[in-house]
Amino acid sequence: MMRRQSPALDGFRLMAAVLVVAIHTSPLAGLSVGLDFWLTRVAARVAVPFFLMISGYFLARNQWKGTGKFIKKTLLLYGAAIVLYLPLNLYAGGFSFSQWLRAVLWEGTLYHLWYFPALIWGVMLTRLLLRLEERPALAAAVVLYLIGLGGDSYYGIVSRLPVFRHFYDWIFAITEYTRNGVFLVPLFLLLGARSIRLRAKVSAAGFCLVLSGMSLEAFFLRSMDVQRHDSMYLLLPLCMIFLFSLLLGCNHGRIHAARDLSLLIYLLHPACIVMVRALARLTHTWSVFVESSLPHFLAVLSLTVALSLILYRLRPLPSPARSRAWREIDLDALRSNARLLTQAAGPGCELMAVVKADAYGHGAKEVARTLQRDGIRAFAVACPAEGIALRRAGIRGCILILGWTPPEQAPLLARWRLTQTVADIEHGRALANAGYHVHVHLAVDTGMHRLGIPADDIAAIAEMYRLPGIRVDGIFSHLCVSDSLLADNVEYTNRQAGAFSHAVQQLTDMGIHPGKTHLMASYGILNRSCEGTDYARAGIVLYGIYSDDSPVCRNLDLRPVLSLRARIASVRSLAPGDTAGYGRAFTASRPTRLAAVTIGYADGLPRCLAERGGRVLIRGIPCPMVGRMCMDQLLVDVTDVADTAPGDMVTLIGRDSMAEIRAETVAEQCGTITNELLSRLGHRLPVVAAGQNRSLPHMLKAVLSEYL
Ligand SMILES: *Cc1c(COP(=O)(O)O)cnc(C)c1O
Repeated sequence: MMRRQSPALDGFRLMAAVLVVAIHTSPLAGLSVGLDFWLTRVAARVAVPFFLMISGYFLARNQWKGTGKFIKKTLLLYGAAIVLYLPLNLYAGGFSFSQWLRAVLWEGTLYHLWYFPALIWGVMLTRLLLRLEERPALAAAVVLYLIGLGGDSYYGIVSRLPVFRHFYDWIFAITEYTRNGVFLVPLFLLLGARSIRLRAKVSAAGFCLVLSGMSLEAFFLRSMDVQRHDSMYLLLPLCMIFLFSLLLGCNHGRIHAARDLSLLIYLLHPACIVMVRALARLTHTWSVFVESSLPHFLAVLSLTVALSLILYRLRPLPSPARSRAWREIDLDALRSNARLLTQAAGPGCELMAVVKADAYGHGAKEVARTLQRDGIRAFAVACPAEGIALRRAGIRGCILILGWTPPEQAPLLARWRLTQTVADIEHGRALANAGYHVHVHLAVDTGMHRLGIPADDIAAIAEMYRLPGIRVDGIFSHLCVSDSLLADNVEYTNRQAGAFSHAVQQLTDMGIHPGKTHLMASYGILNRSCEGTDYARAGIVLYGIYSDDSPVCRNLDLRPVLSLRARIASVRSLAPGDTAGYGRAFTASRPTRLAAVTIGYADGLPRCLAERGGRVLIRGIPCPMVGRMCMDQLLVDVTDVADTAPGDMVTLIGRDSMAEIRAETVAEQCGTITNELLSRLGHRLPVVAAGQNRSLPHMLKAVLSEYL
């Protein structure tokens, strides 16, 4: 026989939510008062204990490790619910401050919201109780429940004794009900955690029997008129033990939406009661949809379910950005670096942010937007495509293309208002002949011999300023050994700087306004002075990284912007002698735990890194890469890290807890400079911003996606 899929636990979540709606709409009141009492005050009283038990069940299955997160989520949700129902509170006349305090702490700001503070208090108290052994904890919870019972449906009997009456008077001075986090919640959390399992027949028979008993108990108490409230019965815990065991026994499979849906139904139904009333008044159907109890219940239920389904469909799905491997950029660090470099460049000199090669692998769009917000108005890229991408991302101001662009692209340059570097005399003339009045900066060759008009060819330089087909907005040169403090190299740089300022001076003497002048890149800013120029072109140091470990004159407190992260996909154990990976390049020399990590050379990581002492951080602990790096994965020895698991975050560059892997170290291991390492980080790695977006919509979205 095939085993039927019966997701009993999730199914009953939905059932319990419907029962709560029933409690607040009394569906059978029109039919029979007694029947309605039984449904809403007896049978439906299993709903909340069930929610508590299922919380305890899942918390305990995780050894109560998720308690902090659970409380945080519940708090967030409670906060959202308070805000949601605030208009109703205000409409009803609001509370005084002490009433607010009481409501928020214990009773909830609307009748159904007591559940959330109760859950929070209850979970905290239960954790405290569990410092005892399980049995004493359970015994304490039973005692608390009994005390609660005395203030609930047995109040009329118990309060006949003056001692008890005084005791409960004292409690009721603090809170209206004993149905709360102290007296009601711990017992059901602990019963859920124990999840006692009996045989199906025993559970079913036990449940029927005890429910009948509880019904008798309820009707008896009601006839005696001793109930102060009617949410707790002597037999309720026993009833719940049988019910939960019954559900657990036939629980196969899941309804994934059930948790969120039941929660939404619970949260929203009071709002729907209000809406149904308003609609009934508007459509003159009051007698049908409000006064007749069953149609009223059905109307409220359908509206609540419909609204819950809609909201459920609209819930934010997890972002795929951090699913495999990603580039995390610290925008606060970026802004701090930009400020420090602007200061270092000195007064009168602006920063031109070099964001070519996707901002050295940091994500040009995010980087440029952040800097523009902080007042930076000049950017440099390598080619038109990069410039256009920035314009599309809303970057205004000057975008200088540092590389050569074919003259036939002039219309494109004009269309996107990109400033083109003139690479040499022919390039300048050809751009002018294209006739689009493209804005340009002249590159001047002062000794790098890459691009530029020779610095001593002042006639050619002056000619460019007079060509009618282009507009020369600036002039610059590039240094080739400014990163070195060796005397020879410093001397060479001096000559380059001299040649540049001489050319600029000659132009001025000829009555030509040279436009914006710029000479220094990252190492120029660190090792020399930007005085007398208009821009400092900061590239690598803007990202808080040095090209390599050579010394510099000016030590700024720059912070690395990029962290490169991935995840553990799978962990396995190897015996000594076992090999792993392509070419069997790794042989275990001891019992080894090996993790596959979700990043490889196709993401831009140098393939040689794995064989040259590459490491990653897992929970702040350095772990060596082993074997050969694959296209999309690599292997890491995690023997020294306790309980690593799939999904754990792996850091390849950046900080994790107290440890850090610097880009400079990785570049050196691979025999290259950070500029190459970072600019190669591929487009398969999404850019995730950290430490910046404090806008309200973004934070709300973060909170929602945290919860749902
Ligand atoms: C790439 C580049 C820069 C930036 O260099 P960094 O050393 O990274 O600051 C500056 N100027 C020119 C012409 C460039 O090509």
